[in-house]
Amino acid sequence: MVERNPRSTKLSKSYLFREVADRVQSYKRKNPGAVLYNLGIGDTTIPLPQVVTQSLSGFFESLSTEEGYLGYQNEQGNELLRKSIIERFYPDTITPDEVFVSDGAKCDIGRLQILLSHLSPVLIQDPTYPVYRDGTLLSGDQSLIYAVCNPENDFFPNFSGSPKLLYICSPNNPTGTVLTYTQLTHLVSYAKEHGALIIFDAAYRYFIQGEQHPRTIYEIPGAKEIAIEVNSFSKFAGFTGIRLGWSIVPKTLKGLYDDYARLHSTIFNGASILAQKCGEVVLQEGFEACMASVEEYRANTKAMRDALLSEGETVYGGEHAPYVWIETKGKSSWEAFQYYLEEKQLIVTPGSGFGKGGEGFVRLSGFFHPSTRSAILDRLACSSYTSTLYS
Ligand code: PLP
Repeated sequence: MVERNPRSTKLSKSYLFREVADRVQSYKRKNPGAVLYNLGIGDTTIPLPQVVTQSLSGFFESLSTEEGYLGYQNEQGNELLRKSIIERFYPDTITPDEVFVSDGAKCDIGRLQILLSHLSPVLIQDPTYPVYRDGTLLSGDQSLIYAVCNPENDFFPNFSGSPKLLYICSPNNPTGTVLTYTQLTHLVSYAKEHGALIIFDAAYRYFIQGEQHPRTIYEIPGAKEIAIEVNSFSKFAGFTGIRLGWSIVPKTLKGLYDDYARLHSTIFNGASILAQKCGEVVLQEGFEACMASVEEYRANTKAMRDALLSEGETVYGGEHAPYVWIETKGKSSWEAFQYYLEEKQLIVTPGSGFGKGGEGFVRLSGFFHPSTRSAILDRLACSSYTSTLYS
């Protein structure tokens, strides 16, 4: 028998979404008429703007002509797209050769983990988006520091244990909270003083409102010397299926910049030219339409948050992120999951599925289709919702 990689055995069984699916199936078997709404997923539901798909169809057809055909392209991504990313998100801070276009933020994190497997200990916010933890366990033998982020510490990790690599996600999945300028400045200062590197995941930056919160770590002076930022078209442009993202690796990271350029071109052959074309259109004529979809998700999330608050729930996040994080008040995360399923026919995500620090919370996602908003709000408002199954 071929031997397993011992690192694979360090991963806990990925049972969260399977367990959710099993419980939902079992509920449906007992209640075949039940109409369930899913507030568990982080996937987008609003279709792509037509301006994006129409421009793609012309480009796609041109690939069947002698003049228009394209094969392999620059692995780092086409220049127009990289320039558009800079213009939209990093004017005057980053240059196009510091942008690495990719097939998504999750895949970039995996590639970065190969490069950074010598940095230890690694700080993971707890609860966490799972790839920071699981990818680290798979790619290296580093020690992990699980820094609990909860209401007591304002969802801000403490740095005890002197981490050399820190995964920071803001706006945060799953807690829906967002770092302030002061908090992010504190993180950058720590990294500069201790020769540490920050991987900053800004996949939800488009949900930030107003000017009180940084949208990129490069708004903080000095961050270019200690931070790599990953980002994605998934959530703001609905590209979860199309697949397109990017990482910023500043040249001021000297050796790391050259090493990442080498690694990226060694194990990645470039994002699909179709996805890149869509990305260009999104950043130009499609941008407003994409922001209109973000606005709908934001309205979903705000409405959920308001409904929960008016029911006396203790709620975090949801103002600058598409996730609401609810304290389950004495119930375990799974007990609360079962409560939402049976009493409200709503599927939520148990916070404990994102790490021990998430026990005692559930996550509700605002990515549901806006046409279901009022039905969902009725169910969230305990006093006014009368379940058809339980009345
Ligand atoms: N980063 C965070 C924080 C996420 O929540 C997600 C997806 O849910 C991703 C990255 C994945 O992005 P992509 O679809 O570009 O791989």
